[in-house]
Amino acid sequence: MGLIKRDKIEQGIIFACSAVLLMGCGQIVKEGAEPYSKSDVAMGTVVSETIYSSGEDSTDEVMDRLREVESQYLSWRVEDSDIARINDGSGTAVNISRETADYLGEALELAKNSQGAFDPTIGDITRLWDIAGENPHIPKEEEIQELLQKTGYEKIVLNDRNAVLESGVTIDLGAVGKGIGCDEAAKLLKENEQVSGAVIAVGGSIVTYGEKPDGSDWKVAISNPRGETGTYLGTLSLKGEHYISTSGDYQRYFQKDGVRYHHIMDPSTGYPADSGLISVTILCDNGLVSDGLSTACFVLGMERSQDLLKTYQAEAIFVDEEKNVYLSEGMEECFILNQEGYTQKKWQN
Ligand code: AMP
Ligand code: MG
Repeated sequence: MGLIKRDKIEQGIIFACSAVLLMGCGQIVKEGAEPYSKSDVAMGTVVSETIYSSGEDSTDEVMDRLREVESQYLSWRVEDSDIARINDGSGTAVNISRETADYLGEALELAKNSQGAFDPTIGDITRLWDIAGENPHIPKEEEIQELLQKTGYEKIVLNDRNAVLESGVTIDLGAVGKGIGCDEAAKLLKENEQVSGAVIAVGGSIVTYGEKPDGSDWKVAISNPRGETGTYLGTLSLKGEHYISTSGDYQRYFQKDGVRYHHIMDPSTGYPADSGLISVTILCDNGLVSDGLSTACFVLGMERSQDLLKTYQAEAIFVDEEKNVYLSEGMEECFILNQEGYTQKKWQN
């Protein structure tokens, strides 16, 4: 976290929510590096990019790469993607690309390290609840119990580039997909010597890379979990390469009899996680990890997340139902809370 410094809030804010806004204009741009900005839909979400380059505009190249990652590797909807082929071949070994095998391997490690709080086999349960779909509802207890029999990350066996699922089990990498998008975007940027800096938001996952031509910090705004879309909890000030992801109960949910049913499932119960948190933001050096950890820590709650955060040397912001905001030590150096109604409390570990 040595490169991170506190700064006042200014232009260049990114809202870390599904409706991402980028305001990269207005900075003093050094000669040679031009800002190129683009917002479009890819990986089932809004992608916003600002890339500083002394050469050509590469925003389309990044957007195309994200679509490729979705259709070739990750999508469970696109028939020929690696994940869809593993799901179709349930019970038999399926040969997948090196890239998917590596990402799946990292996801399985995260599942293990989080004791299954992040579980890539939870997809069927998410679909049963249909939280963000046309028929959001509370499923029957028997339905949940039946599907729980077919979940559990240990039911996936990955042997180099061969993946086998226990019969009836499916994989859904939705909780790490946008973070993987950030990893892939960063790979492309690094291959391009003319790119000196960039900030790319794939839904709720963001990567900052390099530096701004005027030397100022990257500004990443974290959504207000109980405010109107476009209002924010506070702002991160960062230099260099970082990955930031937020998971919250406000992103996709329905309400019934005053209870909020959201999209982050507790794999141990098959119900939306109920850990007392309403938002978790993770800052670390890897996109997949930041995305997966935000989901896992949301499920685990603050206390049970501590070891996991240490394992990945990740920094975190937790917001609980009482609107208390907890910042890990490294996070204190770079995040400023500036939303009324929230109280910053001492980090508990
Ligand atoms: P995120 O918005 O990154 O927290 O990811 C949430 C998405 O991941 C959901 O829409 C589900 O498809 C999936 N998901 C929900 N709960 C879990 C979980 N505990 N482990 C893995 N994936 C999950
Ligand atoms: Mg996630």
